[in-house]
Amino acid sequence: MKLLVPVKRVIDYNVKPRVKADGSGVDLSNVKMSMNPFDEIAVEEAIRLKEKGVATEIVAVSVGPAKAQETLRTALAMGADRAILIESDAEVEPLAVAKLLAKVAAEETPGMVILGKQAIDDDSNQTGQMLAALLGWSQGTFASKVEVSGDAVAVTREVDGGLETVNLKLPAIVTTDLRLNEPRYASLPNIMKAKSKPLAQKKPEDYGVDIAPRHTTLKVEEPPKRSAGIKVADVDELVAKMKALGVAA
Ligand code: AMP
Repeated sequence: MKLLVPVKRVIDYNVKPRVKADGSGVDLSNVKMSMNPFDEIAVEEAIRLKEKGVATEIVAVSVGPAKAQETLRTALAMGADRAILIESDAEVEPLAVAKLLAKVAAEETPGMVILGKQAIDDDSNQTGQMLAALLGWSQGTFASKVEVSGDAVAVTREVDGGLETVNLKLPAIVTTDLRLNEPRYASLPNIMKAKSKPLAQKKPEDYGVDIAPRHTTLKVEEPPKRSAGIKVADVDELVAKMKALGVAA
């Protein structure tokens, strides 16, 4: 079974985002960019399925600028077999990404597409679900465990108050949650080897997908600064203040 793993290049999770002075978005100039952390988990899960003999090939795919090649090379260094870059300098919204991925899935016919549950830049949490709808495939979102047996996959999902396990007929869409696994670091020899793995370069037009945005960002703002707290002398003063604020009876 072939696995398709979409990976997005996003602002590194350790970087504190700065809002552009004109409020039009987040300033990405000279900012460290990395693979979306949930996508690292997706790549790791795909590699584990290959190591178990369940999967035979892992194809990483990214929609983004030419620099997203670096993200794909990271996926290749971790253990993906080949990569596809669908190059676009414009910001591509989840619906357009899902449409592009649907076309790639139609060409590649994977047994599963394993995506992150959300990209940490826009926190959309939409692409996997939209892709499942476009393809008419079953979906297991927020996976904390993935077990393939025959032509089905059991996905344990993290839901409010516990775990839910769904059994999906393949082909299926799985989106990863934080506790699914701990992604490996690529070793130096594998980083070197990744340089010669195949990376196909495409454009959205090659798939006949219109990536024009459907929404407009009106304004991006920093969260309001927290005002300083106060120190209370003892519990009695704390309770009195809470009563005064109406948060304690
Ligand atoms: P989102 O719906 O934007 O929160 O993204 C959910 C998941 O969809 C991500 O974790 C990726 O696996 C995938 N994805 C979103 N945007 C892209 C992109 N531009 N290129 C590749 N994969 C993407």
